[in-house]
Amino acid sequence: MSRVEAVESAVSPSGQPDIGTPAVEATGLTKKYSSQVAVGGVSFAIPEGSFLSLLGPSGCGKTTTLRMLAGLERPDSGEIRIAGKVMSSSTSRTFVPPHKRRIGFVHQSYGLWPHMDVYRHLMYPLQQRKVTREERDRRVREVLAMVRLDALAERYPNELSGGQQQRVSLGRALVQDPDVLLLDEPLSNLDAALRGEMGVELRRLQRVSGSTAVYVTHDRLEALSLSDYLIVMSDGLVVEFGRPQDIYELPATEFSAQFVAGAVALPATVIAPDGDGFAVTVGESKLLVSQLRESTRSAAHRGGSMALAIRPDRIRVQKAGPSAQANTVSAAVTGVVYYGSHYDVDVEGHDFGHLMCRVQADQDERFAPGDAVQVVLPREDLVLVEKGKGGAEPEI
Ligand code: ATP
Repeated sequence: MSRVEAVESAVSPSGQPDIGTPAVEATGLTKKYSSQVAVGGVSFAIPEGSFLSLLGPSGCGKTTTLRMLAGLERPDSGEIRIAGKVMSSSTSRTFVPPHKRRIGFVHQSYGLWPHMDVYRHLMYPLQQRKVTREERDRRVREVLAMVRLDALAERYPNELSGGQQQRVSLGRALVQDPDVLLLDEPLSNLDAALRGEMGVELRRLQRVSGSTAVYVTHDRLEALSLSDYLIVMSDGLVVEFGRPQDIYELPATEFSAQFVAGAVALPATVIAPDGDGFAVTVGESKLLVSQLRESTRSAAHRGGSMALAIRPDRIRVQKAGPSAQANTVSAAVTGVVYYGSHYDVDVEGHDFGHLMCRVQADQDERFAPGDAVQVVLPREDLVLVEKGKGGAEPEI
């Protein structure tokens, strides 16, 4: 695949319009540590001013990808362009060092200096760049107001809360007027309430500053709520790239259905096309499914081994009765956990093993372990997805 084709296929997973010169563009990035592949060929491109999240479980290569964008790691192969300029290329042997890239890096642990007050934290990078004293002061004051720390400019890190320290770290990155803001799990040291608040604040600052952001997280709600684009990663590879809503509503793979949408999945075998969708079997039960990503259709051939994904709150559980409805499977309740607004009801079926269903607390019926139930999987809520991470997934 040529560079242009690789980037086009990565940029336009669902027919996205032309984005012009991408703000950040990676093509075939790889990085090995001795014999271990940390990143195994990552390609993407995003437009200026957008917010991209790299989402995946621990050890999947998110931070290594981010560090390659920053120039803190040298890729073994592939190319990185920022604002159209080549930062790193294994073919032309180009490597622009970090301080010559127009990037701001925000670390998980803030990386503040105990002997510097807030004002000096923001001033320091501008001094390094030999910006005039007047311009430095103007810029620092502007960014202090932006990150809402103007009243705390003379405080030292130990006199600040976690959220305020994080804003110093963000301010220090923004004061350099970066083309790209690189953020490595910047909210993970904050408590849950502050994390939500700072997420909104972070997105506001990114929009106001006009910079493009690449954000590393393993938290799907953070990624969904903050991002314009999402890369789902596993084992150093891109499992899926697209808009958060598209991946959430219509994932292509079992892995992203579970990781992004919190869906549960059942193994299914395709029997035949049925209207716009397919008839499939799950064990001995026949089910109908209409929803699937267009790119998944080619994998859905007769006899094909796929998976049915559904979000737990879309599954209906009812006490077993005489008349079976369509898309219903029999099961027995094995566990019930109360969460205030809902119950998580774990059921086990002959055809599919365990399945977690979410039942709203205001539903009249109550369930207890041992109950025989019917589990309704509405056709319109099922998504036919590729098994595992898609591609040439080996049969286990
Ligand atoms: P986490 O969410 O836990 O930070 P991650 O997705 O960011 O994980 P990376 O830090 O990119 O993952 O690591 C990817 C793989 O590369 C891991 O298996 C890790 O152990 C390995 N790795 C990362 N840095 C190095 C290094 N400097 N030397 C050797 N192996 C490394």
